[in-house]
Amino acid sequence: MSLLPTKATHRQTREFNVRLVLRCLYDLGPVSRAEIARRTHLTRTTVSDVVAGLLDEELVEEVGRGPSSGGKAPILLRVVPDARLVIGLDLGEEAFTGALVDLRGTIHHEERIAIEGRDGTAALGLVYRLVERMLERAERPLLGIGVGTPGVIDTAGGVIRWAVNLDWQDLALASLLERRFGLPVQVVNDCRAAALAIYAFGATGSRPANLIAVKAGKGVGAGIVMGGELVHGDGYGAGEIGHVVVVEDGDPCRCGRRGCLETVASAHAIMDHLEGPGTDHGSDDSEATLDQAREAFERGDARVQSVVLSAGRYLGGAIAAMIGAMDIHRVVLHGSVTTFGEPWVASVRERVGQRTLGLLASDVDISVADSGSNLAVLGASALLMTSQLGLSLTR
Ligand SMILES: [Zn+2]
Repeated sequence: MSLLPTKATHRQTREFNVRLVLRCLYDLGPVSRAEIARRTHLTRTTVSDVVAGLLDEELVEEVGRGPSSGGKAPILLRVVPDARLVIGLDLGEEAFTGALVDLRGTIHHEERIAIEGRDGTAALGLVYRLVERMLERAERPLLGIGVGTPGVIDTAGGVIRWAVNLDWQDLALASLLERRFGLPVQVVNDCRAAALAIYAFGATGSRPANLIAVKAGKGVGAGIVMGGELVHGDGYGAGEIGHVVVVEDGDPCRCGRRGCLETVASAHAIMDHLEGPGTDHGSDDSEATLDQAREAFERGDARVQSVVLSAGRYLGGAIAAMIGAMDIHRVVLHGSVTTFGEPWVASVRERVGQRTLGLLASDVDISVADSGSNLAVLGASALLMTSQLGLSLTR
């Protein structure tokens, strides 16, 4: 005998069916009701009922008729791309970005607020302000808020365990935002979010089942998608390669140890090696300095070339270890260091080739993500869409 009340069971079944139909429409649309029934193994009556509900909610629309297979040509349906919007936030290290993202990952509106050294409660105030601004601009129903942020994040609980630059420890950001704005919230580490964004919206053609996205920016970190699922790890630290020590007694790292990958492979590390450690690459200077380094690099300045290519080789070594552990063939690089272009990517590739078993290395495809799209915003939004609508963004 079931312990669940029948009503709850019915509701759960219905919710499951709605998610199944929506997922099918999202992945395959435009598609007919009959085709949905075939793919989902639901009865035609169930599919028709579910679709009627989705049409009422204006999540789905009819878009003409498909080819006839003898009888009357079937009506085709698809998910309306901007039927719902998600507020996507990227709590970056220098600025917070807020955006309104639709169901296909198109950004409808975007705003940036400089952090200017704010942390703790003041930084939280900035997050609230950004959400309020997005609420004012939203012209479609909102699904919720997706937050991508650096640091160690308990995504299931929506808790920021540790975000060093914002001075947040065990901050229950999801419940704070849920209570304040009455919307569902997902919080995810920005490197994990980026992996999800590349997986969900970045791939053209068929999605790879497995993917490693490696960020080489101010910090270094990776996000891993395996079997279509975002890997979080036992302690939500999967992909935290930036603080693995790679140089014995190396330079001091902001985490308190010495010789972490971040001290040799990040944008910060490149600046430090060019200007001497301890130089302040504070907010507005850092981009200018990185631009200057890039110009010197492109002019063929030997010292800059040596530092940048060495950064690439260190990153390649870390990627080789991940490939060795997981045998993932698709690697996508992103972050400000990727602007050093092909010579830097070649140094990453070369080291991966040298440090990986030949059989594994031969099929590895290392590329750079399209710049210009905010991967943390898109990935956090994708996670929210998955949780709310069951869209197959991580499958
Ligand atoms: Zn470290």
